[in-house]
Amino acid sequence: MIKGSCCCGAISFELSEPPSMMGVCHCTRCRKVGASTFVFVRGDSFRWISGQDMVQRYKAIPPYKYDRCFCPLCGTALGEPGAGDSFPINANCLDDDPQIQVRFHEFVAEMPSWERISDEAPQFAGHPVKTST
Ligand SMILES: [Zn+2]
Ligand SMILES: [Zn+2]
Repeated sequence: MIKGSCCCGAISFELSEPPSMMGVCHCTRCRKVGASTFVFVRGDSFRWISGQDMVQRYKAIPPYKYDRCFCPLCGTALGEPGAGDSFPINANCLDDDPQIQVRFHEFVAEMPSWERISDEAPQFAGHPVKTST
């Protein structure tokens, strides 16, 4: 079981299995909300423990697809928990090590000049292009 929570602890959840994938989005939007590093989790492996009714939602404006959920008390970005069969959540909310590594970097074209990527995962200017790996 992998547990996760916001900074103040009002909102918490658990995953019954490790996330399927980890990625980093360098777009201005993800950087501003503080959820650049995310993991994808399966809907049926995700369970709220506390604070579900507190979760606030910043609605996605097209072309963006995912709403941004956050804790109204401490401001922690949660990602998009509870959105369908598979959804991204903020990797920084995980209290336990998910035992996976970053698989890709997306929207590196929007990276500020001071930001550095320190792993070997493939980089994409925009959305990742599917590869055979
Ligand atoms: Zn909180
Ligand atoms: Zn992004």
